[in-house]
Amino acid sequence: MSSNQSLAKRDLAVLWHPCTQMKDHESFPLIPIKSGQGVWLEDFDGNRYLDAISSWWVNLFGHANPAINAALKAQLDSLEHVIFAGFTHQSAVELAEKLVDVAPAGLVRCFYADNGSAAVEVALKMSFHYWRNQGQSQKTKFITLENSYHGETLGALAVGNVALYKETYAPLLMEVITVPGPDCYVREPGETCAEYSMRRFELMEQALQRHAESVCAVIIEPLVQCAGNMRMYDPVYLSLLRAACDKYHVHLIADEIAVGFGRTGTLFACEQASISPDFMCLSKGLTGGYLPLSAVLTTEQVYQAFYDDYQRLTAFLHSHSYTGNALACRAALATLNIFQQQPIIAQNKQLAAIMAQATERFKAHPNVAEVRQTGMIVAIELVKNKRTREPYPWQERRGLKVYHYALSKGVLLRPLGNVIYFMPPYIITEAELMLVAEVAWQGLQLAVKD
Ligand code: PMP
Repeated sequence: MSSNQSLAKRDLAVLWHPCTQMKDHESFPLIPIKSGQGVWLEDFDGNRYLDAISSWWVNLFGHANPAINAALKAQLDSLEHVIFAGFTHQSAVELAEKLVDVAPAGLVRCFYADNGSAAVEVALKMSFHYWRNQGQSQKTKFITLENSYHGETLGALAVGNVALYKETYAPLLMEVITVPGPDCYVREPGETCAEYSMRRFELMEQALQRHAESVCAVIIEPLVQCAGNMRMYDPVYLSLLRAACDKYHVHLIADEIAVGFGRTGTLFACEQASISPDFMCLSKGLTGGYLPLSAVLTTEQVYQAFYDDYQRLTAFLHSHSYTGNALACRAALATLNIFQQQPIIAQNKQLAAIMAQATERFKAHPNVAEVRQTGMIVAIELVKNKRTREPYPWQERRGLKVYHYALSKGVLLRPLGNVIYFMPPYIITEAELMLVAEVAWQGLQLAVKD
């Protein structure tokens, strides 16, 4: 038995993995990873895998990044964690200062939580509670977009709209107002993405007009609906939404958990529409992919609505034991330092151009309906029929064939249904990108064979 096999066997005897039908592992081996270095992961049998999806979109500057490692080691020798109610520490303060500094204007308060879903829960609760503290307790609802994803705890799941994750739990979830989205994949022939996004905004405007009185906030993923098959839309939708939220006195929650920290070509996706949301949720890349941490940034106006004498019971009492964890904050500081010290956003523009070039040939493939890109995310939509865009039945699991093929060639791609995508760490080289594209190309040929 190989080293991989023995660890996988022990794993399957005691563990239960996320987003997995565990029975699949009767036929597909688990891959135990021994170490990581840069974009590469290595298993216990010595096989290497290029992490082309940044380990679920968290890793920005590579595994075992020397600068983040050094910062964490220093933090470890002074403070690992301390209760964050009544106490504080240097890394938490410095990180909040830096986040406020780089965030869109007006986001001047930082509330920590420990994962993306928790940040979404915090933003939803804060928005609701803000209106309640303002004497507007009739505001209890949220508007969300079709095909959105905001996490999988019950509140976050309720404001998401991906049936695969949501449907089973529907009886447990709060009711939300779901508005048809601006997803440009389904625009009319001849229509630009901006035109389509603008046209679709009319449906959002109508929903706001009808429901504003009872709505706390609109929650959206700016520019890319990542878990919803990497569907993309134009920044104009965000500009229109910001203006409409102001007009109807409704908050705007920007979930930048997946798209924040340079992924879309700007540090935050909201920048491309020059807007500031009322709440911005951050996680994933926040710590460079090292440790679980999230932050909700909000305005002074929101903060002040909770600030009063204790007896008035207006405080935001939400708490997680690991709020503001010192190691996680230090990893995040080291990550932000890299953005400050190196021209990452400019370098990413070059990498994005290489990604576009490397995937150009996919466009003509008879089973590719679209190759779309926003910054450091490129997605290839596989279809059964290019002309009608009829999708492959999900039961055929075509994307899974790409996944297995790519692994056998030393590349970690993890298609979402029939969508192959690259979302690599920012330290990937041109040659490595070419390798990823070539392996995806070969995997695609295999996956579309009957
Ligand atoms: N929001 C978005 C946009 C996400 O992509 C994700 C994670 N894929 C989440 C929220 C949830 O984050 P977490 O997995 O850390 O709970």
